[in-house]
Amino acid sequence: MLPSFHPSDTESGLRILEELTSDAGRIQREVLEEILTRNASTDYLQGFMCGRVDEELFKERVPVVDYDDIKPYIERIANGECSDIISAQPISELYTSSGTSGGQPKMMPSTEEELDRKTFFYNLLMPIMNKYVKGLEEGKAMYLLFIKPEISTPCGLPARPVLTSYYKSEHFRKRPHNSYNVYTSPDETILCEDSRQSMYCQLLCGLIQRDEVLRVGAIFASAFLRAIKFLEHNWRELCSNIRTGRLSDWIVDRNCRDAVLLILEKPDPVLASTIERECGNSSWEGIIRKLWPRTKYVEVIVTGSMAQYIPILEIYSGGLPLVSTMYASSECYFGINFKPLSDPSDVSYTLIPNMAYFEFLPVEKGDELTNHKVRCNGTRCRTPLNADNDPPEAKAVVDLVDVKVGNYYELVVTTFNGLYRYKVGDILMVTGFHNAAPQFRFVQRQNVVLSIDTDKTSEEDLLKAVTDAKCLLEPLGYILTEYTSYADASSIPGHYVLYWEIKAKDRPDRTDPADLPVAMEECCHRVEESLDYIYRRGRKKDRSIGALEIRVVEEGTFDALMDHCLSQGSSVNQYKTPRCIKSEGTLRVLESRVVGNYFSKKLPHWEPYNMPPSSSS
Ligand code: AMP
Repeated sequence: MLPSFHPSDTESGLRILEELTSDAGRIQREVLEEILTRNASTDYLQGFMCGRVDEELFKERVPVVDYDDIKPYIERIANGECSDIISAQPISELYTSSGTSGGQPKMMPSTEEELDRKTFFYNLLMPIMNKYVKGLEEGKAMYLLFIKPEISTPCGLPARPVLTSYYKSEHFRKRPHNSYNVYTSPDETILCEDSRQSMYCQLLCGLIQRDEVLRVGAIFASAFLRAIKFLEHNWRELCSNIRTGRLSDWIVDRNCRDAVLLILEKPDPVLASTIERECGNSSWEGIIRKLWPRTKYVEVIVTGSMAQYIPILEIYSGGLPLVSTMYASSECYFGINFKPLSDPSDVSYTLIPNMAYFEFLPVEKGDELTNHKVRCNGTRCRTPLNADNDPPEAKAVVDLVDVKVGNYYELVVTTFNGLYRYKVGDILMVTGFHNAAPQFRFVQRQNVVLSIDTDKTSEEDLLKAVTDAKCLLEPLGYILTEYTSYADASSIPGHYVLYWEIKAKDRPDRTDPADLPVAMEECCHRVEESLDYIYRRGRKKDRSIGALEIRVVEEGTFDALMDHCLSQGSSVNQYKTPRCIKSEGTLRVLESRVVGNYFSKKLPHWEPYNMPPSSSS
């Protein structure tokens, strides 16, 4: 049972948070008991627990799994089999996650009831914000929120991103209007499937209501920066609409158009001139404060891979606090930042103990962690779905209240929607406790080396893509001797940069690859073609990722890179070329040796994913 309170009742909200965190251990046990009791007769749990519901047996028998283990169950449900193979409650939809498996998006089960849990979670954010920032009820939020087109599974279940599902739900559309959720964007503009029209209309409404705006934001920093870039390209047209009181003809989405026209009531030349003056300035430093002068903070997630956007956001925001409020995923919503105004590097999330049953798989903090790589106790994290194997991982996991400050863990969840001991793939570090509930810093996504938006490219993905592309060099007499990569977030949108050291095979005297531009551009394209669905969607459909770039470095660069890493403390015996560069110093070693750079000139292939019926159905 979720505690109920009115979202604008700050005192009750804070009291509930105190109760939840004080009693985290008991609440977790109750959550597990409820999940097991409800789902005891599902095929999945039956197979391990034979109808029993005790916690001890659960820990002994139910394996810690990853997506490949549960995929067959998800596919069976997508193909029309009854949900009770994994969940007693009907699975009402599948959330398409930004993670991929076999190049396709992962799908997470969800139920109607889950929307109540999400609403409860969102409602908890308001009291915390109100505690730290006064007067939010006196204005509006300019939050740029978007949906994505959804698909249907072969049996007709909707499959869509979790936020698309939430914004389309009555929980969002019929939310009680209170101090925290009055947005400048009419719902119709958020629910417009055409992202360009949606963006244009939301910015227009935000500009018209600029004097009422007290906070701005988007979910992730990358999306907010995309909006700024869009504004840079479109402010003249936006101002012309404001000046004339006429909406551009290309906004053809009926609902969107009607909703915007209610806000764009009449010509406002004074407002148009003010905005033009600010946007026409050659420097956009502090543009957010200038355009929305009453703004108190920018709400965007800037932890994890989004931290790369902090410097550029700081420039645009003119020193406004950057607030990461929550940590969540398609599997379930996890945690809340109890100190929203803290510096981005100090942000910790407190996991909310009634959201799911949380367990933690210890991970070793190898010396590679400084390079943002974490090994999972030496074991590759795939556990066969067979309780008899008694996987060591299942034994190593610890409960929420038992984690230790300073230690690193991979998050494992058992949800109300049919996931049991599922490894989310995130590495967290315990920074402290709020009452009995631990607080975590998001360290990194397990195995991800590159990420610009929601894309997550692993070292393996990168190796495969580079291996595919380097074949194009060989007929020309060149070979790739070493490579590494870098997520360049200094441009909007950001893009992947690969550093390649290449060598002429038959002509050792030649190191200048100047006659190679066409082949190198083709290599860039080939790499993009080989990257996964989410990358290609970001690049081709969402345009949230820029063209991939290969920077060719002079021969000997990777030796210099090794010397540099050794000088920074890496051990000679264990040295491996870092496949992704995160530190400025290391980057300088490469940058000073670049002899040519090439961009992908074509968009990679991408089309909306349609789930084929699986062979098991
Ligand atoms: P998705 O399943 O596509 O919604 O992606 C969820 C993933 O996004 C999480 O498992 C994290 O890896 C990442 N993520 C979500 N919230 C945060 C956050 N506040 N900080 C860092 N990473 C996050």
